[in-house]
Amino acid sequence: LDQARTEAHAVIRDLSAGTPAFDRLTLTRELPDAIVNGEMFLQYQPKVHVRRQQIASAEALVRWQHPTRGLILPGDFITVAEEAREISALTLWTLEKVIADQKLIAADGNDLTIFINISGQLLADVRFVKQMCTRVVESGARIGLEITETSVIRDPESAIANLQAFADVGIAIAIDDYGAGLSSLAYLKQLPARELKIDKMFVLQLTSSNRDPLIVRSTIDLAHALEMEVTAEGVETQAAMALLSVMGCDMVQGYLISRPVSIEAFRQFLRDDKARAPEEQSHAMFRR
Ligand code: C2E
Ligand code: MG
Ligand code: MG
Ligand code: MG
Repeated sequence: LDQARTEAHAVIRDLSAGTPAFDRLTLTRELPDAIVNGEMFLQYQPKVHVRRQQIASAEALVRWQHPTRGLILPGDFITVAEEAREISALTLWTLEKVIADQKLIAADGNDLTIFINISGQLLADVRFVKQMCTRVVESGARIGLEITETSVIRDPESAIANLQAFADVGIAIAIDDYGAGLSSLAYLKQLPARELKIDKMFVLQLTSSNRDPLIVRSTIDLAHALEMEVTAEGVETQAAMALLSVMGCDMVQGYLISRPVSIEAFRQFLRDDKARAPEEQSHAMFRR
């Protein structure tokens, strides 16, 4: 019955989303094996600290290399994973891969926190929270989690308690896609988050729109008032970068610095950056 319900939900979603139902149902069935068969892989995207002109951290983004359909991006399978109740398994797989990749990065003499995206469903999953905390503590990995406010608003009490449990074992918390979903200032001030990421929808047209710069500037000021650091995602141009710098944005992430890349390419990116003289770093980096 559970499986039938899951599939019925998928059909209803597809009717509204306009995606062929067949695809989602098939993906739902294929997903558990895909994780086990090694069809999932991670790409990494750096975040750069604007003032220090240094790489601050990185975000891990999951992809599915499907044997017949080719590359599938998370936008097309994360909700499938949630509906199929596979999101916990997928996220724990991601954590293990990140722990292993962070060791490779450390072997190159580089040391940085890696952020993992956490689906809202998991913020209410006590078993998942325990497994995650245990693995982070025993591995000694430097892990951060990106969560959206929308996922907190579903069940704020348990979400806030679980986020505090993560924070208590040294996991960094960032608010992802700020401004794109449901938002509550009442919750924002209660979350144990030190970083707020402005959604790329406000950043992509930063220098060609009238309102986006006002929204971005006031969001930066709000975050600073709450003693949080601000990251702008979707930074694609020098012009956006310059404006964000003037506005006091702390960190930037986007194609201007690097697209999400394989662990091998990311290690090379970090090695190249390290080899540069400090005064050269920002210029070279922001001209890529
Ligand atoms: P997100 O966490 O907000 O990730 C940022 C997305 O913006 C990524 O898309 C990234 O490739 C894209 N991006 C980065 N820089 C730029 C830029 O300069 N311009 C533009 N146009 N786009 C840029 P991606 O990888 O397709 O991921 C989409 C979403 O899927 C993520 O949004 C995240 O919410 C979710 N996701 C990714 N990996 C996972 C995961 O392991 N677990 C869960 N639950 N969700 C994930
Ligand atoms: Mg994210
Ligand atoms: Mg984001
Ligand atoms: Mg986003």
